[in-house]
Amino acid sequence: MTTASHPTDSTNRGDAQICRGCWDQMRVPIPIRGALALPFRMFGVTRSKMNPNICTICERSFRYVKKQRHVTASATILFADIRGFTALSEQIEPVRLSEIVSLFQDRCAQAIWAHDGIVNKQMGDGLMAIFNFPIVRQDHAAAAVMAAMDIQRHCRSAFEHLEADHGLGVGVGIHSGEVEIGEFSSFRSDFTAIGGAVNLAARLESQARAGEIVMSPETTTQAAHLTSEAQSRSLVLKGIEQPVEARVLTTA
Ligand SMILES: [Zn+2]
Repeated sequence: MTTASHPTDSTNRGDAQICRGCWDQMRVPIPIRGALALPFRMFGVTRSKMNPNICTICERSFRYVKKQRHVTASATILFADIRGFTALSEQIEPVRLSEIVSLFQDRCAQAIWAHDGIVNKQMGDGLMAIFNFPIVRQDHAAAAVMAAMDIQRHCRSAFEHLEADHGLGVGVGIHSGEVEIGEFSSFRSDFTAIGGAVNLAARLESQARAGEIVMSPETTTQAAHLTSEAQSRSLVLKGIEQPVEARVLTTA
């Protein structure tokens, strides 16, 4: 697969000199690379671990950035995890397991960052990413689908290069909708997204087999140019009344 150029790519790629989150949310230029970033670093403002093109102000000072404790926003939520990991964890040494987790987390982060998402949570053999906050992407559904394709491709090649073939694969679930973004914990100031749309993305991911990207109708519609080859699959999901007519991209 080639990295086809599209309008947002040329401006979004590369190492941003100022925090793209602070710029998009507040129109405030916070230097994060180069000499201008040094005084900020002395005050503890550095690049975020959620995405190296945003800063720790975006990550930890949601209330300052948005002037509210939380906001309702349109976003695309992506969940990914390693299929078969629990079974494998009973068969191989912990040190080998941690190598696999590192490979997975690293490949996923690179793919998510390349499309302006943030790695909001890492949960061992899984993760949750948010697209369209704090870096604004009008085409956030498409950005997430492209990230998912990169995740599948890069994880497959990383797993193929492991000494032993454990038959590992990655499952991805994506949904686009309204979420509540903000700080919801009194003892941690990192922001996250919550709401039914987040739950639906997680449920879709739980139905994804190795190599699959399972998308909601909302994501599929918004990223139509990327999902024309997706197969329909009607899914009955825990906690959701109506069956969801999901679309599935199988990467192999
Ligand atoms: Zn920032």
